[in-house]
Amino acid sequence: MKKYIFILCMLFLSLTLAGCKDEEISADKPLVYTSFYALCDFASEIAGDNAQIVNMVPAGTEPHDWEPGVKDMAGLNEADIVLYNGMGMESWTDKAFASLENADTVFVKVSDGADIYDSADPHIWLDPENVKIMCGNILSALCEADPEHSEAYKANYDSYISELDELDRAFSSELAPYKGRSIVVSHSAFGYLCNAYGLKQEPLDGVSADSEPSPDRMMELVNFIKSNDIKYIFCEKLVSRKTAETLAEETGAELLYLDPFEGLTEEEISRGDNYISVMYSNLENLKKALMQGE
Ligand SMILES: [Zn+2]
Repeated sequence: MKKYIFILCMLFLSLTLAGCKDEEISADKPLVYTSFYALCDFASEIAGDNAQIVNMVPAGTEPHDWEPGVKDMAGLNEADIVLYNGMGMESWTDKAFASLENADTVFVKVSDGADIYDSADPHIWLDPENVKIMCGNILSALCEADPEHSEAYKANYDSYISELDELDRAFSSELAPYKGRSIVVSHSAFGYLCNAYGLKQEPLDGVSADSEPSPDRMMELVNFIKSNDIKYIFCEKLVSRKTAETLAEETGAELLYLDPFEGLTEEEISRGDNYISVMYSNLENLKKALMQGE
């Protein structure tokens, strides 16, 4: 019994010490705010334990319509680095950034230097080649804010780039047989993915996922699905499935998920889902849908 009490005491002591140590270190760590989950994921991959990453949009919330509240603004004011996509992804940034009082905050438009084929479409991270550029911008910001850990950041970046290259190769080779084919998607988020791998998207909604198609557009979609013999309609977890369900009923198509990785649910975060895992499951579902039409 004495032995167990001793072990418990040691365990408690070590946990307490670890907690103190963490808190002390965290005061020195760069505080990084991100405007939606994809950026939080990329920043976490590169930062490892050397920076604190705070994602502003709550889990399970679609980021296009999200705006910061008073508490978010107070948090943002403490940030060393703020990562945002730009290109119209975040409607709130101009006004919010102008009202901040912390003159030392560094704002990083992560899409800078990306390969832009459609300036009206902000979903550039659905092409892994662009994620590499985005991660380069995040790496520079972290190294500048915290030069002491720049080697660790660089090492994390390098290993993440290898994972992205592998992902890109898998998409290229496994989607190669379906070049020129169309997918029906819930909002117009997959232009960059389609552009990278030779597919076409037929969206039920625009780039911001907040409107409903007109009756004429619905009719057009029904005809498109029937005439192209499309067996699956892609929907998303964070936007309403109503339109997709109506279309599925009309056409006999089934629903499948295709995730634009704008945000994850609480459950997905706790089971460790990330960009790489979500993209591989996107690839599986794309193959399932595209194979069906053959
Ligand atoms: Zn979107």
